[in-house]
Amino acid sequence: MRWILLLAALLLPTGLAAKEPARPVTVLVGIDGFRADYLERGHTPRLAALAKEGATGPMRPSFPTKTFPNHYALVTGKRPDRNGIVGNSMIDPRRPGVMFSLGNATQALDPFWWSEAEPVWIAAERAGIRTATMFWPGSEVAFDGTRPADWLRYDKNVTNVQRVNTLIDWLRRPAAIRPQFATIYFDTVDTIGHEFGPDSAEVNAALAEVDARIGELVDGATKLGVPLNLVIVADHGMRATDDARVIQLDTLIDRASYIAVETGPYAAIEPVTGTDDRVANALLVPHEHMTCTRKENLPERLHWGKNPRVAAIICIAEAGWTILSGTPAYPVKGGAHGYDNADPEMLAIFIARGPAFTRGAMLEVFDNVAVTALLRATLGLPEDADADGKLADVRAALRR
Ligand code: AMP
Ligand code: ZN
Ligand code: ZN
Repeated sequence: MRWILLLAALLLPTGLAAKEPARPVTVLVGIDGFRADYLERGHTPRLAALAKEGATGPMRPSFPTKTFPNHYALVTGKRPDRNGIVGNSMIDPRRPGVMFSLGNATQALDPFWWSEAEPVWIAAERAGIRTATMFWPGSEVAFDGTRPADWLRYDKNVTNVQRVNTLIDWLRRPAAIRPQFATIYFDTVDTIGHEFGPDSAEVNAALAEVDARIGELVDGATKLGVPLNLVIVADHGMRATDDARVIQLDTLIDRASYIAVETGPYAAIEPVTGTDDRVANALLVPHEHMTCTRKENLPERLHWGKNPRVAAIICIAEAGWTILSGTPAYPVKGGAHGYDNADPEMLAIFIARGPAFTRGAMLEVFDNVAVTALLRATLGLPEDADADGKLADVRAALRR
């Protein structure tokens, strides 16, 4: 009997008999601006297959439907009002005279702005789970002195192929130094969506390109024998805009009397001290294609406006309209996001596929803050009772 076993062991390919199956790695894939219904266009065969093999459903972004607030909501389980990233641009009364914005690295890389909520990679690192981020807003900043074991400074010029190859290299590592949680981020679908609009051939080509990259990631991991719990998400959708649907704030109030913290699908307006009444009187009246309110009067369903970083007056444009303050740097065309998160065109893709997830589960629309709870569950981290998102909201995605 014993010699039969010995013979069997000798006949097996080298190493295989002794090797333990690799532990699944949770990979959060962010496809900026991938609207939920893009998945049905027929340009993303790999994503369609993953959706079929896993759990899928439209995901509601948090308001404002912008990149930074939603990427942080996805990894903290807290909506922008509570995660501190209340916009792509923001001001804070504790930092007079400065503005946080995507393009202002001095502010965007300052932990001050990111310290109101703990991202999941920090919770993981603290629990002894190794993490790695191939780009994600907030991942370049230390939280209480902790960072992902591997992370990279955001650089738009790193190609999608390079991003995938970097992640595959991390997966290739010996188990002891292989991340158990990783992120990867693609910006091209959003960039092309802004330039050409959501219904363009260019967006379709961008969808196909990102689909191919995700296919390469899946195939690469399979080749390495590393199972993936893939969670594929977007931060928001995209809606067609044009220069015929523009609300010009210059026609309502002089520019010197306020700071336009954000403009576009919504405007965040901070009156310059002393001119508050004039700005309020001009804006807080009915307008044809936008609604302006003081932040304390925003509808409860937006869950936004209590954070001191939210500007005093918020105007939300009717879907497809653009609020401007003066002449924009670029003509209004193509597509935009930032609208009310009840807008169906702001809905984002969600796919969870892997050993932790249910095959063929179709989820009803759920709030994106539940994604953190799902990620935590795959990593064996306890549910965060303080989070806005609950595991119960995405329970159907999780295999029992
Ligand atoms: P949005 O203006 O909301 O469409 O933001 C999307 C842009 O955010 C993309 O063009 C990205 O290049 C940029 N972006 C994404 N991640 C980061 C990051 N970590 N740091 C700086 N910019 C980023
Ligand atoms: Zn975005
Ligand atoms: Zn965008």
